Amino acid sequence: MRHIWYTTQTEETQNLAIALAQVLRGGELITLRGDLGAGKTTFTQGLARGLGITKAVKSPTFTLIREYQGQALKLNHMDLYRVEDQYEELGLEEYFNQQESVTVIEWPEQMGAQIPDQHLDLAIRLTPDGDREIEVNARGTIYEALLTKWLGQLEGGEHEG
Ligand code: ADP
Ligand code: MG
Repeated sequence: MRHIWYTTQTEETQNLAIALAQVLRGGELITLRGDLGAGKTTFTQGLARGLGITKAVKSPTFTLIREYQGQALKLNHMDLYRVEDQYEELGLEEYFNQQESVTVIEWPEQMGAQIPDQHLDLAIRLTPDGDREIEVNARGTIYEALLTKWLGQLEGGEHEG
């Protein structure tokens, strides 16, 4: 199952993420693909806001992982851009089964086949006219249900973030 949005403004991308945050229940894995400057961290900032995180979310490019406590759920934000062989030691897979957390990974390509099969995958691309194409692919039935809820949340047009 797949869906594509186009956004012109930073806030539009964040509003999509805020709506997603409203339908997360914990234990979800979200991967964010796209070039530098595509909007992966921007999306994560919206997600954080939607989860009730007030602390500023910065790209964890050098730290690889940052953790933030939200109202009900924790956000694990990973950026694997600069990861080389040390990610084995980071024990990233431990984060995937935390039922009270949502895990977001920028540059999931760096983990290759070690990314769990079931997840919500987003690819963000800059279009020739400077907009963003945001393609979401739901991998697995749980994530198909999540995408359906996300679309429903956006239709309702209510962002509690
Ligand atoms: P990445 O994490 O993918 O490297 P960032 O989110 O850090 O990218 O940077 C994206 C930049 O593009 C931000 O400065 C953001 O304000 C800007 N931007 C402009 N338009 C959009 C849009 N429609 N969606 C997301 N970001 C946008
Ligand atoms: Mg980033």
